[in-house]
Amino acid sequence: MGAKSGREFLQRLDSTPREVWYGDEKITGSVSKHPAFRGVAKSIAALYDMQLKPELEDVMTYESPTTHERVGTSFLQPRTREELGRRTAMIKTWADFSGGMMGRTADYLNSSIMAMAAAAQFFGKGEHDFAANVSGYYEYVRENDLVLTHTLINPQTNRGVGPSKQADPFIAARVADKTSEGVVIRGARMLATLPIADEIMVFPSTVIRSGQDDMPYSIAFAVPVSAKGLKFVCRESFAAESAFDHPLASRFDEQDAVVVFDDVLVPWERVFILEDPDRANKVNESTGAIVFMAHQATVREAAKAEFMAGLATMVAETIGADAFPQVQERIAGVLLIAETMKAFIGSSEARAKTNEWGLMSPDYAPLNAARNVWPRLAPDFSAVIKQTGASGLMAIPPEGILGSEARPDVDRYFQSKLADGEERVRLFKMAWDASGSSFGGRQDLYERFFFGDPVRMASAYYSWYDKEPYKRRVMELLHRKD
Ligand SMILES: Cc1cc2nc3c(=O)[nH]c(=O)nc-3n(C[C@H](O)[C@H](O)[C@H](O)COP(=O)(O)OP(=O)(O)OC[C@H]3O[C@@H](n4cnc5c(N)ncnc54)[C@H](O)[C@@H]3O)c2cc1C
Repeated sequence: MGAKSGREFLQRLDSTPREVWYGDEKITGSVSKHPAFRGVAKSIAALYDMQLKPELEDVMTYESPTTHERVGTSFLQPRTREELGRRTAMIKTWADFSGGMMGRTADYLNSSIMAMAAAAQFFGKGEHDFAANVSGYYEYVRENDLVLTHTLINPQTNRGVGPSKQADPFIAARVADKTSEGVVIRGARMLATLPIADEIMVFPSTVIRSGQDDMPYSIAFAVPVSAKGLKFVCRESFAAESAFDHPLASRFDEQDAVVVFDDVLVPWERVFILEDPDRANKVNESTGAIVFMAHQATVREAAKAEFMAGLATMVAETIGADAFPQVQERIAGVLLIAETMKAFIGSSEARAKTNEWGLMSPDYAPLNAARNVWPRLAPDFSAVIKQTGASGLMAIPPEGILGSEARPDVDRYFQSKLADGEERVRLFKMAWDASGSSFGGRQDLYERFFFGDPVRMASAYYSWYDKEPYKRRVMELLHRKD
Protein backbone atom coordinates (compact mmCIF):
# COMPACT_ATOMS: atom_id res chain seq x y z
CA MET A 1 0.00 0.00 0.00
CA GLY A 2 1.03 3.64 -0.34
CA ALA A 3 3.10 5.42 -3.00
CA LYS A 4 4.41 2.96 -5.55
CA SER A 5 7.68 2.67 -7.45
CA GLY A 6 8.06 2.69 -11.21
CA ARG A 7 8.83 -1.03 -11.15
CA GLU A 8 5.59 -1.73 -9.30
CA PHE A 9 3.66 0.33 -11.85
CA LEU A 10 5.22 -1.59 -14.75
CA GLN A 11 4.52 -4.94 -13.11
CA ARG A 12 0.90 -3.92 -12.61
CA LEU A 13 0.66 -2.76 -16.22
CA ASP A 14 2.01 -6.03 -17.59
CA SER A 15 0.01 -8.29 -15.31
CA THR A 16 -3.37 -6.60 -15.83
CA PRO A 17 -5.21 -8.13 -18.79
CA ARG A 18 -6.91 -5.51 -20.98
CA GLU A 19 -8.37 -5.36 -24.47
CA VAL A 20 -6.34 -2.77 -26.33
CA TRP A 21 -6.64 -2.69 -30.13
CA TYR A 22 -3.79 -1.30 -32.18
CA GLY A 23 -4.82 -1.63 -35.82
CA ASP A 24 -5.43 -5.34 -36.41
CA GLU A 25 -3.40 -6.23 -33.36
CA LYS A 26 -5.09 -7.10 -30.08
CA ILE A 27 -2.25 -6.39 -27.72
CA THR A 28 -1.54 -9.31 -25.46
CA GLY A 29 1.43 -9.88 -23.21
CA SER A 30 3.62 -7.10 -21.88
CA VAL A 31 2.03 -3.77 -22.72
CA SER A 32 5.10 -1.98 -21.36
CA LYS A 33 7.23 -3.59 -24.08
CA HIS A 34 4.91 -2.75 -26.98
CA PRO A 35 6.46 -0.14 -29.31
CA ALA A 36 3.38 2.11 -28.97
CA PHE A 37 3.60 2.20 -25.18
CA ARG A 38 7.20 1.43 -24.21
CA GLY A 39 8.35 5.05 -24.07
CA VAL A 40 5.41 6.50 -22.18
CA ALA A 41 5.31 3.54 -19.77
CA LYS A 42 8.96 4.21 -18.93
CA SER A 43 8.17 7.89 -18.38
CA ILE A 44 5.26 7.11 -16.07
CA ALA A 45 7.50 4.69 -14.18
CA ALA A 46 10.02 7.52 -13.76
CA LEU A 47 7.28 9.74 -12.34
CA TYR A 48 6.36 7.03 -9.83
CA ASP A 49 10.02 6.69 -8.87
CA MET A 50 10.24 10.41 -8.16
CA GLN A 51 7.78 9.86 -5.31
CA LEU A 52 10.25 7.60 -3.57
CA LYS A 53 13.36 9.78 -3.91
CA PRO A 54 14.38 10.85 -0.38
CA GLU A 55 15.07 14.43 -1.49
CA LEU A 56 11.56 14.71 -3.02
CA GLU A 57 9.63 12.74 -0.42
CA ASP A 58 8.10 15.80 1.25
CA VAL A 59 7.04 17.32 -2.05
CA MET A 60 5.72 14.17 -3.67
CA THR A 61 4.07 12.37 -0.75
CA TYR A 62 2.29 12.88 2.57
CA GLU A 63 1.09 10.63 5.35
CA SER A 64 -2.17 8.82 4.61
CA PRO A 65 -4.81 9.69 7.20
CA THR A 66 -5.99 6.07 7.26
CA THR A 67 -2.91 3.83 6.86
CA HIS A 68 -0.20 6.36 7.85
CA GLU A 69 1.84 5.20 4.86
CA ARG A 70 3.28 7.82 2.50
CA VAL A 71 0.83 8.44 -0.39
CA GLY A 72 0.99 10.78 -3.42
CA THR A 73 0.52 14.51 -2.72
CA SER A 74 -2.01 14.83 -5.55
CA PHE A 75 -4.43 12.95 -3.27
CA LEU A 76 -3.91 15.48 -0.47
CA GLN A 77 -7.17 17.18 0.55
CA PRO A 78 -5.80 20.63 1.37
CA ARG A 79 -7.13 22.28 4.49
CA THR A 80 -4.56 25.08 4.64
CA ARG A 81 -2.75 27.35 2.19
CA GLU A 82 0.45 25.51 3.00
CA GLU A 83 -1.13 22.22 1.90
CA LEU A 84 -2.44 23.84 -1.27
CA GLY A 85 1.10 25.04 -1.96
CA ARG A 86 2.37 21.48 -1.48
CA ARG A 87 -0.04 20.32 -4.15
CA THR A 88 1.27 22.99 -6.54
CA ALA A 89 4.90 22.02 -5.92
CA MET A 90 4.12 18.36 -6.57
CA ILE A 91 2.20 19.06 -9.79
CA LYS A 92 4.99 21.34 -11.08
CA THR A 93 7.67 18.74 -10.30
CA TRP A 94 5.88 16.12 -12.39
CA ALA A 95 5.02 18.57 -15.18
CA ASP A 96 8.63 19.74 -15.52
CA PHE A 97 9.73 16.15 -16.12
CA SER A 98 8.10 16.20 -19.58
CA GLY A 99 8.26 19.93 -20.25
CA GLY A 100 4.47 19.86 -19.77
CA MET A 101 4.09 17.46 -22.73
CA MET A 102 2.22 14.84 -20.68
CA GLY A 103 -1.26 16.15 -20.07
CA ARG A 104 -2.68 13.14 -18.32
CA THR A 105 -0.22 12.32 -15.58
CA ALA A 106 -2.05 10.75 -12.65
CA ASP A 107 -2.30 14.03 -10.71
CA TYR A 108 -4.94 15.34 -13.15
CA LEU A 109 -7.63 12.84 -12.24
CA ASN A 110 -6.35 12.40 -8.68
CA SER A 111 -7.19 16.08 -8.23
CA SER A 112 -10.72 15.42 -9.44
CA ILE A 113 -11.45 12.36 -7.32
CA MET A 114 -9.81 14.02 -4.30
CA ALA A 115 -12.22 16.98 -4.51
CA MET A 116 -15.23 14.78 -5.26
CA ALA A 117 -14.51 12.64 -2.20
CA ALA A 118 -14.46 15.74 0.01
CA ALA A 119 -17.85 16.60 -1.49
CA ALA A 120 -19.13 13.00 -1.31
CA GLN A 121 -22.49 14.08 0.14
CA PHE A 122 -23.26 15.72 -3.20
CA PHE A 123 -23.64 12.24 -4.75
CA GLY A 124 -26.42 11.33 -2.30
CA LYS A 125 -27.66 8.18 -0.66
CA GLY A 126 -30.81 6.35 -1.60
CA GLU A 127 -31.23 2.73 -2.54
CA HIS A 128 -27.48 2.89 -3.23
CA ASP A 129 -25.00 4.90 -1.19
CA PHE A 130 -23.32 6.85 -4.01
CA ALA A 131 -21.64 9.16 -1.49
CA ALA A 132 -19.92 6.21 0.21
CA ASN A 133 -18.98 4.84 -3.22
CA VAL A 134 -17.11 8.04 -4.11
CA SER A 135 -15.29 8.20 -0.76
CA GLY A 136 -14.41 4.52 -0.94
CA TYR A 137 -13.14 4.83 -4.48
CA TYR A 138 -10.93 7.81 -3.63
CA GLU A 139 -9.33 5.89 -0.78
CA TYR A 140 -8.88 2.81 -2.94
CA VAL A 141 -7.12 4.79 -5.68
CA ARG A 142 -5.02 6.72 -3.15
CA GLU A 143 -3.86 3.74 -1.13
CA ASN A 144 -3.07 1.65 -4.22
CA ASP A 145 -1.53 4.61 -6.04
CA LEU A 146 -3.42 3.85 -9.23
CA VAL A 147 -3.34 5.88 -12.42
CA LEU A 148 -6.70 6.67 -14.02
CA THR A 149 -7.84 7.53 -17.50
CA HIS A 150 -11.25 9.05 -18.17
CA THR A 151 -13.77 9.69 -20.85
CA LEU A 152 -16.37 12.46 -20.92
CA ILE A 153 -17.59 12.77 -24.50
CA ASN A 154 -20.02 10.81 -26.68
CA PRO A 155 -18.84 9.60 -30.08
CA GLN A 156 -18.81 12.27 -32.80
CA THR A 157 -21.70 10.73 -34.74
CA ASN A 158 -24.04 13.68 -35.20
CA ARG A 159 -23.35 16.71 -33.04
CA GLY A 160 -26.58 18.33 -34.24
CA VAL A 161 -28.59 16.22 -31.76
CA GLY A 162 -27.98 14.69 -28.33
CA PRO A 163 -27.18 11.02 -27.66
CA SER A 164 -30.80 9.91 -27.26
CA LYS A 165 -31.73 11.36 -30.69
CA GLN A 166 -29.06 9.54 -32.68
CA ALA A 167 -30.27 6.99 -35.23
CA ASP A 168 -28.80 4.29 -32.98
CA PRO A 169 -29.36 5.20 -29.30
CA PHE A 170 -26.71 2.70 -28.24
CA ILE A 171 -23.78 4.42 -29.97
CA ALA A 172 -23.14 6.66 -26.96
CA ALA A 173 -22.39 4.67 -23.82
CA ARG A 174 -25.50 4.32 -21.65
CA VAL A 175 -27.25 2.18 -19.14
CA ALA A 176 -28.44 -0.97 -20.91
CA ASP A 177 -29.56 -2.94 -17.86
CA LYS A 178 -29.53 -3.01 -14.08
CA THR A 179 -28.99 -6.24 -12.17
CA SER A 180 -28.51 -7.16 -8.53
CA GLU A 181 -24.76 -6.94 -9.15
CA GLY A 182 -24.61 -3.58 -10.84
CA VAL A 183 -25.26 -1.53 -13.97
CA VAL A 184 -24.63 -2.83 -17.48
CA ILE A 185 -23.15 -0.23 -19.85
CA ARG A 186 -23.34 -0.48 -23.64
CA GLY A 187 -21.98 1.93 -26.26
CA ALA A 188 -18.84 4.02 -26.69
CA ARG A 189 -17.18 7.16 -25.40
CA MET A 190 -14.29 9.28 -26.60
CA LEU A 191 -11.55 10.12 -26.00
CA ALA A 192 -9.46 8.35 -23.38
CA THR A 193 -5.87 9.53 -23.24
CA LEU A 194 -3.54 7.03 -21.57
CA PRO A 195 -5.16 3.64 -22.16
CA ILE A 196 -2.31 2.12 -20.16
CA ALA A 197 -3.96 3.39 -16.98
CA ASP A 198 -5.21 1.04 -14.25
CA GLU A 199 -8.83 2.21 -14.17
CA ILE A 200 -11.18 4.29 -16.28
CA MET A 201 -13.54 6.91 -14.87
CA VAL A 202 -16.60 7.82 -16.90
CA PHE A 203 -17.93 11.20 -15.91
CA PRO A 204 -20.13 13.94 -17.41
CA SER A 205 -18.41 16.65 -19.44
CA THR A 206 -17.62 19.95 -17.74
CA VAL A 207 -19.29 21.76 -20.66
CA ILE A 208 -22.03 19.68 -22.29
CA ARG A 209 -25.36 19.63 -20.48
CA SER A 210 -27.77 16.69 -20.40
CA GLY A 211 -31.52 17.06 -20.86
CA GLN A 212 -34.18 14.81 -19.32
CA ASP A 213 -34.13 12.70 -22.53
CA ASP A 214 -30.51 11.91 -21.78
CA MET A 215 -31.34 10.05 -18.55
CA PRO A 216 -29.62 6.74 -19.51
CA TYR A 217 -26.51 8.66 -20.54
CA SER A 218 -26.34 10.73 -17.34
CA ILE A 219 -23.98 8.48 -15.47
CA ALA A 220 -20.69 8.45 -13.61
CA PHE A 221 -18.74 5.36 -12.65
CA ALA A 222 -15.32 3.75 -12.62
CA VAL A 223 -14.12 0.31 -13.63
CA PRO A 224 -10.71 -1.36 -13.91
CA VAL A 225 -9.36 -1.46 -17.46
CA SER A 226 -9.56 -5.24 -17.18
CA ALA A 227 -13.38 -5.14 -16.91
CA LYS A 228 -14.97 -7.72 -19.21
CA GLY A 229 -16.29 -6.16 -22.42
CA LEU A 230 -14.19 -2.98 -22.13
CA LYS A 231 -12.14 -2.22 -25.26
CA PHE A 232 -9.73 0.55 -26.18
CA VAL A 233 -9.40 1.36 -29.89
CA CYS A 234 -6.12 3.29 -30.24
CA ARG A 235 -5.04 5.80 -32.83
CA GLU A 236 -1.80 5.31 -34.75
CA SER A 237 1.11 5.69 -32.37
CA PHE A 238 3.39 8.70 -32.66
CA ALA A 239 5.96 7.02 -30.44
CA ALA A 240 9.32 6.39 -32.05
CA GLU A 241 12.31 4.29 -31.22
CA SER A 242 15.06 6.88 -31.41
CA ALA A 243 15.20 9.46 -28.63
CA PHE A 244 17.62 11.40 -30.85
CA ASP A 245 15.20 11.58 -33.78
CA HIS A 246 12.04 12.06 -31.70
CA PRO A 247 13.09 13.24 -28.24
CA LEU A 248 9.52 13.96 -27.13
CA ALA A 249 7.43 11.41 -29.05
CA SER A 250 9.73 8.56 -28.03
CA ARG A 251 9.09 9.36 -24.37
CA PHE A 252 5.76 11.11 -23.94
CA ASP A 253 3.21 9.84 -26.46
CA GLU A 254 0.35 9.12 -24.07
CA GLN A 255 -1.84 7.59 -26.82
CA ASP A 256 -5.58 8.31 -27.20
CA ALA A 257 -8.33 5.75 -27.62
CA VAL A 258 -12.03 5.46 -28.28
CA VAL A 259 -13.53 3.32 -25.53
CA VAL A 260 -16.13 0.64 -26.26
CA PHE A 261 -18.33 -0.75 -23.51
CA ASP A 262 -19.59 -4.08 -24.74
CA ASP A 263 -22.09 -4.76 -21.94
CA VAL A 264 -19.62 -3.91 -19.20
CA LEU A 265 -20.92 -4.67 -15.71
CA VAL A 266 -20.18 -1.84 -13.29
CA PRO A 267 -20.52 -3.14 -9.72
CA TRP A 268 -22.87 -1.04 -7.57
CA GLU A 269 -20.01 0.16 -5.36
CA ARG A 270 -18.37 1.78 -8.39
CA VAL A 271 -21.48 3.69 -9.53
CA PHE A 272 -21.43 7.39 -8.58
CA ILE A 273 -24.28 8.96 -10.60
CA LEU A 274 -27.10 6.97 -12.14
CA GLU A 275 -29.66 8.29 -14.64
CA ASP A 276 -29.60 11.70 -13.03
CA PRO A 277 -29.19 14.57 -15.56
CA ASP A 278 -29.47 17.22 -12.90
CA ARG A 279 -26.63 15.82 -10.81
CA ALA A 280 -24.61 15.05 -13.96
CA ASN A 281 -24.91 18.68 -15.05
CA LYS A 282 -23.75 20.00 -11.69
CA VAL A 283 -21.14 17.49 -10.57
CA ASN A 284 -17.96 19.22 -11.71
CA GLU A 285 -18.86 22.67 -10.37
CA SER A 286 -20.80 21.69 -7.24
CA THR A 287 -18.13 19.35 -5.90
CA GLY A 288 -15.30 21.80 -6.63
CA ALA A 289 -13.61 19.15 -8.80
CA ILE A 290 -13.38 21.55 -11.73
CA VAL A 291 -11.40 24.02 -9.62
CA PHE A 292 -8.78 21.47 -8.63
CA MET A 293 -8.58 20.05 -12.16
CA ALA A 294 -8.15 23.57 -13.54
CA HIS A 295 -5.47 24.21 -10.91
CA GLN A 296 -3.54 21.09 -11.95
CA ALA A 297 -3.96 21.97 -15.62
CA THR A 298 -2.77 25.56 -15.17
CA VAL A 299 0.36 24.48 -13.29
CA ARG A 300 1.12 22.01 -16.09
CA GLU A 301 0.48 24.72 -18.68
CA ALA A 302 2.89 27.09 -16.93
CA ALA A 303 5.52 24.32 -17.02
CA LYS A 304 4.91 23.83 -20.73
CA ALA A 305 5.06 27.54 -21.52
CA GLU A 306 8.39 27.81 -19.68
CA PHE A 307 9.74 24.83 -21.60
CA MET A 308 8.59 26.22 -24.95
CA ALA A 309 10.13 29.59 -24.10
CA GLY A 310 13.43 27.85 -23.34
CA LEU A 311 13.22 25.86 -26.57
CA ALA A 312 12.39 28.85 -28.78
CA THR A 313 15.19 30.89 -27.18
CA MET A 314 17.72 28.11 -27.76
CA VAL A 315 16.68 27.72 -31.40
CA ALA A 316 17.10 31.47 -31.95
CA GLU A 317 20.41 31.76 -30.09
CA THR A 318 21.90 28.66 -31.68
CA ILE A 319 21.60 30.08 -35.19
CA GLY A 320 22.36 33.66 -34.16
CA ALA A 321 18.83 34.89 -34.88
CA ASP A 322 18.19 36.10 -31.33
CA ALA A 323 19.18 39.72 -31.97
CA PHE A 324 16.50 40.29 -34.62
CA PRO A 325 13.63 42.34 -33.18
CA GLN A 326 10.84 40.25 -34.71
CA VAL A 327 12.42 37.08 -33.28
CA GLN A 328 12.64 38.72 -29.87
CA GLU A 329 9.05 39.90 -30.17
CA ARG A 330 7.80 36.38 -30.90
CA ILE A 331 9.76 34.76 -28.10
CA ALA A 332 8.65 37.54 -25.76
CA GLY A 333 5.11 36.41 -26.62
CA VAL A 334 5.92 32.91 -25.32
CA LEU A 335 7.50 34.34 -22.17
CA LEU A 336 4.34 36.40 -21.67
CA ILE A 337 2.24 33.23 -21.86
CA ALA A 338 4.43 31.65 -19.17
CA GLU A 339 4.07 34.69 -16.92
CA THR A 340 0.33 34.88 -17.58
CA MET A 341 -0.21 31.28 -16.51
CA LYS A 342 1.95 31.76 -13.42
CA ALA A 343 0.00 34.90 -12.54
CA PHE A 344 -3.26 32.94 -12.77
CA ILE A 345 -1.87 30.31 -10.41
CA GLY A 346 -0.51 32.93 -7.99
CA SER A 347 -3.73 34.89 -7.82
CA SER A 348 -5.87 31.75 -7.49
CA GLU A 349 -3.77 30.69 -4.51
CA ALA A 350 -3.55 34.15 -2.94
CA ARG A 351 -7.36 34.32 -3.02
CA ALA A 352 -7.84 30.71 -1.87
CA LYS A 353 -10.72 30.09 0.53
CA THR A 354 -12.20 27.11 2.30
CA ASN A 355 -14.96 25.76 0.06
CA GLU A 356 -18.29 24.43 1.27
CA TRP A 357 -16.79 20.94 1.59
CA GLY A 358 -13.94 22.06 3.85
CA LEU A 359 -11.11 22.13 1.28
CA MET A 360 -8.74 25.09 0.91
CA SER A 361 -9.74 25.81 -2.65
CA PRO A 362 -7.90 28.10 -5.08
CA ASP A 363 -10.06 30.94 -6.39
CA TYR A 364 -11.86 29.72 -9.51
CA ALA A 365 -12.01 33.12 -11.28
CA PRO A 366 -8.34 33.17 -12.39
CA LEU A 367 -8.40 29.44 -13.12
CA ASN A 368 -11.55 29.73 -15.21
CA ALA A 369 -9.85 32.56 -17.09
CA ALA A 370 -6.77 30.34 -17.52
CA ARG A 371 -8.79 27.45 -18.91
CA ASN A 372 -10.46 29.76 -21.43
CA VAL A 373 -7.39 31.68 -22.46
CA TRP A 374 -4.99 28.74 -22.82
CA PRO A 375 -6.59 27.23 -25.96
CA ARG A 376 -6.18 30.66 -27.60
CA LEU A 377 -2.55 31.11 -26.52
CA ALA A 378 -1.05 27.63 -26.77
CA PRO A 379 -1.25 27.37 -30.60
CA ASP A 380 1.28 30.24 -30.69
CA PHE A 381 4.01 27.89 -29.45
CA SER A 382 4.27 25.93 -32.67
CA ALA A 383 3.95 29.10 -34.76
CA VAL A 384 6.86 30.75 -32.92
CA ILE A 385 9.08 27.66 -33.16
CA LYS A 386 8.37 27.34 -36.89
CA GLN A 387 8.90 31.04 -37.61
CA THR A 388 12.16 30.99 -35.67
CA GLY A 389 13.62 27.67 -36.82
CA ALA A 390 12.49 28.05 -40.44
CA SER A 391 14.25 25.64 -42.84
CA GLY A 392 16.52 24.47 -40.04
CA LEU A 393 13.56 22.45 -38.79
CA MET A 394 13.95 20.31 -41.90
CA ALA A 395 17.76 20.07 -41.69
CA ILE A 396 17.34 17.14 -39.34
CA PRO A 397 18.70 13.94 -40.94
CA PRO A 398 17.93 10.66 -39.16
CA GLU A 399 20.31 9.61 -36.39
CA GLY A 400 21.99 7.01 -38.62
CA ILE A 401 23.89 9.69 -40.51
CA LEU A 402 26.07 10.30 -37.47
CA GLY A 403 27.67 6.88 -37.95
CA SER A 404 27.88 7.11 -41.74
CA GLU A 405 30.52 8.33 -44.13
CA ALA A 406 28.45 11.52 -44.51
CA ARG A 407 29.21 12.45 -40.89
CA PRO A 408 31.91 15.01 -41.83
CA ASP A 409 29.26 16.86 -43.84
CA VAL A 410 27.03 17.02 -40.77
CA ASP A 411 29.96 18.32 -38.71
CA ARG A 412 30.78 20.98 -41.25
CA TYR A 413 27.47 22.11 -42.77
CA PHE A 414 25.04 21.57 -39.93
CA GLN A 415 27.05 23.42 -37.33
CA SER A 416 25.72 26.74 -36.12
CA LYS A 417 26.86 29.75 -34.16
CA LEU A 418 26.56 28.02 -30.79
CA ALA A 419 26.45 24.31 -31.54
CA ASP A 420 28.34 21.66 -33.46
CA GLY A 421 26.47 19.78 -36.20
CA GLU A 422 25.25 16.93 -34.00
CA GLU A 423 24.05 19.23 -31.22
CA ARG A 424 22.23 21.55 -33.62
CA VAL A 425 20.44 18.63 -35.26
CA ARG A 426 19.54 17.28 -31.79
CA LEU A 427 18.04 20.63 -30.74
CA PHE A 428 16.13 21.19 -33.96
CA LYS A 429 14.67 17.70 -33.80
CA MET A 430 13.28 18.55 -30.39
CA ALA A 431 11.90 21.82 -31.74
CA TRP A 432 10.21 19.95 -34.62
CA ASP A 433 8.84 17.28 -32.28
CA ALA A 434 7.31 20.02 -30.11
CA SER A 435 5.77 21.92 -33.00
CA GLY A 436 5.38 20.06 -36.26
CA SER A 437 5.81 16.30 -36.06
CA SER A 438 2.78 14.03 -35.57
CA PHE A 439 3.48 14.31 -31.85
CA GLY A 440 3.71 18.11 -32.09
CA GLY A 441 0.46 18.29 -34.07
CA ARG A 442 -1.30 16.22 -31.45
CA GLN A 443 0.09 18.51 -28.73
CA ASP A 444 -1.46 21.46 -30.51
CA LEU A 445 -4.83 19.69 -30.80
CA TYR A 446 -4.67 18.58 -27.18
CA GLU A 447 -4.11 22.09 -25.86
CA ARG A 448 -7.05 23.37 -27.92
CA PHE A 449 -9.53 20.75 -26.70
CA PHE A 450 -8.45 18.79 -23.64
CA PHE A 451 -10.59 20.82 -21.24
CA GLY A 452 -13.60 20.90 -23.57
CA ASP A 453 -14.69 22.68 -26.71
CA PRO A 454 -13.32 26.25 -26.37
CA VAL A 455 -16.40 27.70 -28.10
CA ARG A 456 -18.84 26.24 -25.59
CA MET A 457 -16.43 26.93 -22.73
CA ALA A 458 -16.44 30.59 -23.74
CA SER A 459 -20.27 30.63 -23.83
CA ALA A 460 -20.36 29.06 -20.40
CA TYR A 461 -17.80 31.62 -19.22
CA TYR A 462 -19.94 34.45 -20.56
CA SER A 463 -22.95 33.18 -18.61
CA TRP A 464 -20.91 32.48 -15.46
CA TYR A 465 -19.14 35.85 -15.26
CA ASP A 466 -20.84 38.49 -13.13
CA LYS A 467 -20.80 41.43 -15.58
CA GLU A 468 -23.30 43.55 -13.62
CA PRO A 469 -20.77 45.70 -11.74
CA TYR A 470 -19.09 46.65 -15.03
CA LYS A 471 -22.44 47.47 -16.64
CA ARG A 472 -23.38 49.63 -13.67
CA ARG A 473 -20.24 51.71 -14.17
CA VAL A 474 -21.12 52.23 -17.83
CA MET A 475 -24.68 53.22 -16.89
CA GLU A 476 -23.40 55.62 -14.28
CA LEU A 477 -21.11 57.35 -16.78
CA LEU A 478 -23.78 57.27 -19.49
CA HIS A 479 -26.20 59.21 -17.33
CA ARG A 480 -23.74 61.37 -15.39
CA LYS A 481 -25.09 64.89 -15.23
CA ASP A 482 -21.90 66.95 -14.84
C1 LIG B 1 -5.60 15.00 -28.01
C2 LIG B 1 -6.89 14.94 -27.25
C3 LIG B 1 -6.94 14.21 -26.07
C4 LIG B 1 -8.12 14.13 -25.34
N1 LIG B 1 -8.18 13.40 -24.20
C5 LIG B 1 -9.34 13.25 -23.54
C6 LIG B 1 -9.44 12.43 -22.36
O1 LIG B 1 -8.45 11.89 -21.88
N2 LIG B 1 -10.64 12.27 -21.80
C7 LIG B 1 -11.77 12.87 -22.30
O2 LIG B 1 -12.84 12.68 -21.75
N3 LIG B 1 -11.71 13.65 -23.40
C8 LIG B 1 -10.53 13.85 -24.03
N4 LIG B 1 -10.48 14.63 -25.14
C9 LIG B 1 -11.74 15.08 -25.73
C10 LIG B 1 -12.13 16.49 -25.37
O3 LIG B 1 -12.85 16.47 -24.15
C11 LIG B 1 -12.99 16.99 -26.53
O4 LIG B 1 -12.15 17.16 -27.64
C12 LIG B 1 -13.71 18.28 -26.25
O5 LIG B 1 -14.61 18.13 -25.19
C13 LIG B 1 -14.50 18.75 -27.50
O6 LIG B 1 -15.38 17.74 -27.90
P1 LIG B 1 -15.26 17.07 -29.34
O7 LIG B 1 -13.82 16.78 -29.61
O8 LIG B 1 -16.17 15.91 -29.33
O9 LIG B 1 -15.69 18.17 -30.36
P2 LIG B 1 -17.13 18.36 -30.97
O10 LIG B 1 -18.10 18.55 -29.86
O11 LIG B 1 -17.45 17.24 -31.89
O12 LIG B 1 -16.95 19.69 -31.78
C14 LIG B 1 -16.58 19.74 -33.16
C15 LIG B 1 -16.77 21.16 -33.66
O13 LIG B 1 -18.16 21.50 -33.62
C16 LIG B 1 -18.40 22.61 -32.77
N5 LIG B 1 -19.59 22.29 -31.98
C17 LIG B 1 -20.03 21.06 -31.63
N6 LIG B 1 -21.15 21.15 -30.92
C18 LIG B 1 -21.43 22.45 -30.78
C19 LIG B 1 -22.47 23.18 -30.11
N7 LIG B 1 -23.44 22.56 -29.47
N8 LIG B 1 -22.41 24.52 -30.16
C20 LIG B 1 -21.42 25.16 -30.80
N9 LIG B 1 -20.41 24.52 -31.46
C21 LIG B 1 -20.42 23.19 -31.45
C22 LIG B 1 -17.15 22.74 -31.89
O14 LIG B 1 -16.91 24.08 -31.49
C23 LIG B 1 -16.07 22.21 -32.81
O15 LIG B 1 -15.60 23.24 -33.64
C24 LIG B 1 -9.29 14.77 -25.84
C25 LIG B 1 -9.22 15.52 -27.02
C26 LIG B 1 -8.04 15.60 -27.72
C27 LIG B 1 -8.02 16.39 -28.99
